[in-house]
Amino acid sequence: MNVARYWRTERTRYNLVGETCRVCGEPIFPPRDLCPHCTEAGQDLRTFGGKGEVYSFSHVNDAPAGYTEYQPYTVALIKLEEGPLLTAQLTDVDESEVRIGMPVEMVTRKLKEEGENGMIVYGYKFRPVVQA
Ligand code: ZN
Repeated sequence: MNVARYWRTERTRYNLVGETCRVCGEPIFPPRDLCPHCTEAGQDLRTFGGKGEVYSFSHVNDAPAGYTEYQPYTVALIKLEEGPLLTAQLTDVDESEVRIGMPVEMVTRKLKEEGENGMIVYGYKFRPVVQA
């Protein structure tokens, strides 16, 4: 597969595309040239399931330009079920309800608007898993 072409597709914005190391078998997110676990090159693309739990978090009251319409918001370090840690904004949650270990799942949301034309950038955020 042509990796460069793969990355240009919209698909990657809506999926947690990472890699599995061919040498040590560790899951990697986001993709990188060298495995952070064994420093070898050579990974296979994979898509992570989008479920995990809050590993740590912080509330942002003073957002950078482009994100101010969402402040205050919560940014969390999320541990995916498959193992990798990633940073993402939480959504659909009251900040007082965020707990370490809280189960969360990925959703696709508007991230911000760019420039005078208001081009909307979408990407992933995480929300609490709705208990049935
Ligand atoms: Zn490795």
